[in-house]
Amino acid sequence: MHDLIIIGGGQSALACAYYLRRTDLRYVLLDNQPDCGGAWRHAWDSLTLFSPAEQSSLPGWWMPKSNHPFPTRAEVIDYLCQYEQRYEVPVNRPVEVSQVYQKNGLFQLDTSEGGFQSRAVISATGTWGNPFIPEVPGRAQFKGIQLHAAFYQNAKIFAGKKVLVVGEGNSGAQILAEVSKVAKTAWAVRRTPQFLPDDVDGRVLFNVASAKYYAEQKGARFDAQKFGLGNIVMVPSVKEARSRGVLKAAGQLQSIYETGVVWETGEREGFDAIIWCTGFGYATGHLKKLGPQDERGRMPTDGTRSTEVPGLWLVGYGGWTGFASATVIGVGRSARQTVKQVVGFLEE
Ligand code: FAD
Repeated sequence: MHDLIIIGGGQSALACAYYLRRTDLRYVLLDNQPDCGGAWRHAWDSLTLFSPAEQSSLPGWWMPKSNHPFPTRAEVIDYLCQYEQRYEVPVNRPVEVSQVYQKNGLFQLDTSEGGFQSRAVISATGTWGNPFIPEVPGRAQFKGIQLHAAFYQNAKIFAGKKVLVVGEGNSGAQILAEVSKVAKTAWAVRRTPQFLPDDVDGRVLFNVASAKYYAEQKGARFDAQKFGLGNIVMVPSVKEARSRGVLKAAGQLQSIYETGVVWETGEREGFDAIIWCTGFGYATGHLKKLGPQDERGRMPTDGTRSTEVPGLWLVGYGGWTGFASATVIGVGRSARQTVKQVVGFLEE
């Protein structure tokens, strides 16, 4: 029996573990991956952080300097793995938690390695396990390749094809930039893509998010527009794609047929492949027995604390449970507050 079980083994779970070292709680992390690194293990090969290493650290130990403008995916994985070893984080993996429920005042966890019990639970399972694809009429009829960004590795399989990239966020812009080097591409968007100025990176976004958070804490209205910012960070690959003129948005999709799509104008266009860069819900399916969730996997919380299930916390789910907490630098604050609350709860 544990005092606390953390579900997950990515950056959010590690940040919680860091603050738990200062307690004498009996705790363990259960992660379904075969190795360290969380979602970064699944990101595409060329993904980098948006901020330099010195702005991208978990509590306690700075990310080592990168040889690149922004740390690469491999460097982030390396950092998370070293962090885990450095602080001797007790992770059991691979252990998939399928269901969590309450019995006799304790949490019961059904897992691939049998049952676990604990007095409190932190869920830190991120979003990567819950890719979202919108319902576009006819999608199931498409005979070509369909892939969500969660499963995109690199552009190799698209060489020489005609590829539609859907989604106007960072994933869409970065994948479009890469695939357009080896394939003919088009970009389907719901809104006009908003590019950040070239000299703005994740640090500025974090500062804007902080300003928003503190304004809201004081009950003040926050006007993001006055910052005049978009959301697509001009990482080197996206800048390069701009210089080739491929970052042109073609508009909205109306429907899909066996070999192509119908644009909102009614015009038809053939494609060999569609890459859905349409975001994620929250990977909280394992908590369904604890209470109702909305279509994105959210349940009621105050900060990271569940308001309906005493003893349950949810960490690292970004805009939902803690501002900027889906980032390496932002999750530390959420983790610290959460561990403080967990300790208080278990002492009661
Ligand atoms: P994860 O890293 O997803 O870790 C959760 C872990 O829990 C995983 O190992 C998962 O497999 C495991 N798990 C899930 N469900 C279960 C279960 N039922 N049982 C057991 N284990 C389970 N972040 C930044 O900080 N800076 C950036 O610049 C940045 N850029 C990004 C750019 C793009 C294009 C994208 C898409 C993301 C970016 N991110 C960035 C976000 C970052 O990748 C994630 O937000 C981050 O990995 C979340 O960390 P986490 O620990 O909360 O979740």
